[in-house]
Amino acid sequence: MRLVQTLRPVVEAAAPSAAGYCARLPIGQVLRSAENTARTILGSKLGRPIQNEEIAVKSIMIMSNPWQISRPRTRITNWERGVLIGKGSFASVYIGSDADGPFAAKGVSLGEHNYLPHLKNEIDILEGLDHENIIQCYGTQKDGKMLYIFLELASHGTLEQAYKKRRFTESQVSHYTRQILQGLEYLHSCNVVHGDLNCANILVTESGRIKLADFGLSKRMEDHSQYSLKHGQGSSYCMDPEDANRKRGGYGFPSDICSLGCTVLEMSTGKYPQCNDKEVISVELAIRRGKIIVPRNLPRNLRDFINQCLHPDPNQRPTAAELLAHPFVKESSFHADS
Ligand code: ATP
Repeated sequence: MRLVQTLRPVVEAAAPSAAGYCARLPIGQVLRSAENTARTILGSKLGRPIQNEEIAVKSIMIMSNPWQISRPRTRITNWERGVLIGKGSFASVYIGSDADGPFAAKGVSLGEHNYLPHLKNEIDILEGLDHENIIQCYGTQKDGKMLYIFLELASHGTLEQAYKKRRFTESQVSHYTRQILQGLEYLHSCNVVHGDLNCANILVTESGRIKLADFGLSKRMEDHSQYSLKHGQGSSYCMDPEDANRKRGGYGFPSDICSLGCTVLEMSTGKYPQCNDKEVISVELAIRRGKIIVPRNLPRNLRDFINQCLHPDPNQRPTAAELLAHPFVKESSFHADS
């Protein structure tokens, strides 16, 4: 504990200068450079070489300081496009860098008339949001060929990529779910419905912080009582019954809660939601019929959480604020840096 207290101010002093200094380097190099700077300062301060265990503690502390990557920046004007880091159904995402450091540049060709409205919608929504569990927007740019939105870089990729690499423990699922809920509670308090929540649209930062992303299908409601969305074409597995069958109902805040249930189920089982109907039916229909399989071997609190989110009647689903008091997330004890 004393070691942590000694190291924290040193690393905090070193990291920003190193990050700024290495603006054009990939993120791993920025972190390494922050480490080297901290090592030099700490070594001279203590008058002895730094032990490996101290370096490990120091690295964790650097990585648990998200401000060094997503701190406020000046307007991005003069930037360089680096490697492609992701491709969705409509946009390409590159690493960008400027004098302030690396970021993500999500772009769509100006000729893509089908996809451009999605990016414009995402820009419109993200520019009005500011929360630590929502991907931060640093600005936009239109050149002769492309429209870009500049985003905070989430260097650990999506939740889907993460659980495919290594199955999540229950406490990890709880920890991530809590952060998703915090983002969702904020979003809904701003009268915005995400509309496409799933593990492939939730990003993880270097420090293990969760960021809701991909707001191409999001919609700002006029007020919180407004229920229906006209477009509603979220990702298929998480599209909830009232969205899937818009003739029968509307689409709104409870739809995001239903998608959250599918997302938590996917994180817990490592698989897309399955249903136990004899017919081959869509996940949406399965939810409406109460046929989604929530495995009995999942812990009781987790099962209860998922079942509440997947309630076939949207009016019976809890709000994000109510779910934050559910024991499954309230008792979360996992720490990404531990
Ligand atoms: P969709 O098919 O879901 O509509 P899309 O075209 O809107 O996708 P995104 O899902 O936003 O594109 O991004 C595509 C991929 O790029 C993501 O799956 C992710 O791997 C990567 N990506 C997007 N934004 C970031 C970011 N801010 N930091 C790091 N990687 C990102």
